Amino acid sequence: MKRIVVLGAGFGGMQATIELDRIFRARPDVTILLVNDQNFFLFTPLLPEIASSYINPRHIVQTVRDIRGRRRFGFWRDDVRSINVDRRRIELAGGSLEYDYLVVALGSRADYFHVPGAREHTWDFKSLEDAVALRERILDLCEHADHTADPAARRRMLTFVVVGGGYTGIELVAEVHDLLFGYILRRYRGIPREEVRLIVLEAESEILRGVHPSLVAHAQKRLQKQGIEIRLHTRATRCFPDGVEINGREIIPADTVVWTAGVRAPELVESLPGPHDRIGRAIVNEHLQLDAHPEVFVVGDSSAAITAKDAPRVAPVAIAHGRLAARNIAHRERAEPLESYRYVSQGALVSLGMNHAVVDIAGIKFSGYFAWLLWNAVHLFKLVGLKKQLQVAADWLLAVVFPRDASIVRRPRRCRLCGTQGP
Ligand SMILES: Cc1cc2nc3c(=O)[nH]c(=O)nc-3n(C[C@H](O)[C@H](O)[C@H](O)COP(=O)(O)OP(=O)(O)OC[C@H]3O[C@@H](n4cnc5c(N)ncnc54)[C@H](O)[C@@H]3O)c2cc1C
Repeated sequence: MKRIVVLGAGFGGMQATIELDRIFRARPDVTILLVNDQNFFLFTPLLPEIASSYINPRHIVQTVRDIRGRRRFGFWRDDVRSINVDRRRIELAGGSLEYDYLVVALGSRADYFHVPGAREHTWDFKSLEDAVALRERILDLCEHADHTADPAARRRMLTFVVVGGGYTGIELVAEVHDLLFGYILRRYRGIPREEVRLIVLEAESEILRGVHPSLVAHAQKRLQKQGIEIRLHTRATRCFPDGVEINGREIIPADTVVWTAGVRAPELVESLPGPHDRIGRAIVNEHLQLDAHPEVFVVGDSSAAITAKDAPRVAPVAIAHGRLAARNIAHRERAEPLESYRYVSQGALVSLGMNHAVVDIAGIKFSGYFAWLLWNAVHLFKLVGLKKQLQVAADWLLAVVFPRDASIVRRPRRCRLCGTQGP
């Protein structure tokens, strides 16, 4: 009996599991087990639209058991606590596991670059819970700003700072702009338009690093035209509950600072033996294996393949890794030569909010409404399952006619009325 264990049901782990299941379908002597701390797969590219109340949170997740359908792989919802590659053993919150082959696909976590206060006082934006919490935070502050008489307090409530001008930060700020200017200001009559501020802090000289310069210039111009402040060469140097210090000099008073500035590998990955890059990712060989443990494959955001260390941390890379790791496990089983990983860029698609996007696919670059339609079509196509595709398509269509839903369905993490703490 051969036991293959996959840790993480994100883009990389899910793809590896599906591919393994397909390859070993006729091998009852091979068991495949997927372990994840949540019982669903999350489609992260649509998270900014959760924060802006554009689509329903449940519509961008698919349960692992529904994805499995008639496939035969096993699934455990559990938390991985440690990986012992010498003993080929994994400790979980609820037990332990042994394996013959292991695929590690545990994604990444926020990196706060040791900025004082960043971990405690900024809002993360990586998970479904983060997106829902941020949505409710924004709505909660608007509810209070609507009747707050103190202008300084009101301005602080209505200032939203996003640290990091990468894909996530820019898509998020564009969505929050749509929520505030397209919905909130029309209904919250006590909020003066000129007091709403959206600010992006970017440490480098440009936003959207990796995107073609002409599209970056276009995106920056459009966001600035909408009143979004893009502050380049600007680092968050301290974070407080009610603001952020930048470049060690100026303080921006703001009740909401969102951290999208950097990621690093989870501690479990950092603790794997062998070399790691500066953000803790396991450096794997061209077959995606740990050199000293060829039965261990590391994929997606957790890994840096020696042949493509600069590949971006995006879903297509994780999917390609997952597929290749599965095929290489099959090759090892059949004593065949392994395949090597080569990064092939699939272009860039960045949404700039309702009706506008920038696109760079196969060397063709364009922006505007048709780019936005393409962005929607691609993401809809990539969502897992017809039900989810229909639900998201329905959310988008309904948003053309009906207003967004601004109900706060759970107690916000830091509510000014009840005083609960957050983030
Ligand atoms: C807000 C946001 C927007 C994004 N937008 C895009 C986009 O538009 N296009 C794009 O290509 N990429 C986008 N990305 C990046 C993309 O999501 C990642 O590159 C991709 O998810 C990496 O896949 P992965 O399998 O390595 O990790 P993930 O998809 O993060 O999966 C890791 C899995 O491991 C699980 N896990 C972690 N720790 C444990 C543990 N201890 N025990 C059990 N399970 C655990 C997690 O719950 C998760 O299910 C976005 C990311 C974010 C956060």
